Amino acid sequence: MDFTGKAAIVTGGANGIGAAVARGFVQRGGRVCIVDRDADAGEALAAELGKSAIFRAADVTRAGEVQAYVQATLEAFGTVDAFHNNAGIEGKVAPTAEYEEAVYDAVMGVNVKGVFLGLRHVLPVMLRQGRGAVVNTASIAGLVGTPGMSAYVASKHAVIGLTKVAAGEVGPQGVRVNAVCPGPIDTRMVQDIAKQVSPNNPGGVEERYAAGIPLRRYGRAEEVANLVLFLLSDLAGNITGAHYVVDGGRTASPAGIS
Ligand code: NAD
Repeated sequence: MDFTGKAAIVTGGANGIGAAVARGFVQRGGRVCIVDRDADAGEALAAELGKSAIFRAADVTRAGEVQAYVQATLEAFGTVDAFHNNAGIEGKVAPTAEYEEAVYDAVMGVNVKGVFLGLRHVLPVMLRQGRGAVVNTASIAGLVGTPGMSAYVASKHAVIGLTKVAAGEVGPQGVRVNAVCPGPIDTRMVQDIAKQVSPNNPGGVEERYAAGIPLRRYGRAEEVANLVLFLLSDLAGNITGAHYVVDGGRTASPAGIS
């Protein structure tokens, strides 16, 4: 994978999976615009990556801020070749019968509207260029239900839907759109979920959950980044409208009876 001369935008790029993608893109010769609402972590990562990176603070649910990060990337690098549309939040863990409406709106706002707005403002640039690759971060929660996570599950199913629609629309102009579906990955997000589920023993949640994963562990952000970077690269030139699972085997083979 060689990104020399290419520029990427990574939303939610200050932490976790997005930060691993930003690092990997730069390590392979590219330049990156890190977009996040966490300005401290975003500025720190941009400083670490030096001249090959800029940071733009933005809330992905606000169209004006989305337009501004696309514009900033074009001004800095002249092109948007790759877009990792990745920012997301988990919301609260609660049964659907008790789920708070405001939390539902917040999760759908970031995970669906945020992804939509990213597509809405990046795709026109890629269509003008006649090339580009997008990876939306969905989740295995976009494929199967997880009790207690109704808003998150609905939002990630929607991300896969948006991916399929966009791929059909922009494929004829040479633009590809795919999705990745991570299982549990060791980032702040799963740590926050564990604290909600078991405030006194968050570590125990990982132990129990990992026992039901064929590879018996959570994934690492870099392992998701490897898949994202492949899909953003020319090596994936014939792949579009697809979604790929990276979950240690969790979805294919959930815990059995033995
Ligand atoms: P993370 O919390 O480390 O990173 C998410 C980043 O998104 C943070 O930097 C956060 O500040 C940013 N963000 C959140 N809302 C934003 C907004 N409105 N505007 C701008 N930035 C915003 O978690 P992560 O695990 O790296 O999550 C990245 C993506 O991966 C998310 O879409 C998440 O749903 C998805 N995912 C994560 C897992 C997992 O187990 N960690 C599994 C499947 C899917």
